[in-house]
Amino acid sequence: MSNNCVFCGHKHLISKTTRYIYQKNQQLLIIDHVPCLECSFCGEQYFDASVLETIEQDYQAIANAEKQPTRFLQVAIEDFSLLSL
Ligand SMILES: [Zn+2]
Repeated sequence: MSNNCVFCGHKHLISKTTRYIYQKNQQLLIIDHVPCLECSFCGEQYFDASVLETIEQDYQAIANAEKQPTRFLQVAIEDFSLLSL
């Protein structure tokens, strides 16, 4: 992984973990504590290809009912066009 932000060119990338939201076929999988590099200037996050592969494989395993996720979360969903705030 390069140590320059591709997005803004800033040099200070911090190693941290974050919540990653994977989306496929109208399904969501949330993975916590995913390692990444985050640009301290613009907030852009960078993930290792092997990390993304692991997440993709986990999603497939759950989608194929080969495993159960650690827990389920109920989420609220809104359509922006229906909001009148
Ligand atoms: Zn940046």
